Amino acid sequence: MTAYGKPLPVPDADSRHFWAGCRSHRLLLQRCRSCGTHRFPAGALCPACRSREADWIESRGRGTVFSWITVRHPVPRDVYAADVPYVVALVDLEEGVRMATNIVGCAPEEVTAGMPVEVAFEDVTAEISLPRFRPAAGR
Ligand SMILES: [Zn+2]
Repeated sequence: MTAYGKPLPVPDADSRHFWAGCRSHRLLLQRCRSCGTHRFPAGALCPACRSREADWIESRGRGTVFSWITVRHPVPRDVYAADVPYVVALVDLEEGVRMATNIVGCAPEEVTAGMPVEVAFEDVTAEISLPRFRPAAGR
């Protein structure tokens, strides 16, 4: 695999399981053991009830576009120049969490609010796979 050259996530104690899941193409979320609230990004405390107890569950990987922008001016120019235009979006997953991501698999002008999307993992290095979203099949 050639050098990726772009910023990469650095898994920490909270996000390690999430990134390991991505590597195996499974979108993992924390679910509070006390109140059942899903949470993303991963953290030590439930934002709803402050419990420290959580389980990891596999998301269905489906959601809808909440909002998005189309990047047309690459910053930094050298590493993103070949990618523009591309879409940076907020996707609301069925589990109730909102995730910043990219929309792939369609032209930027095809993206609409509420568009059904599904996760599509991209293996960018030997260790890191990024969860992006594409238009959902059968929509
Ligand atoms: Zn909770």
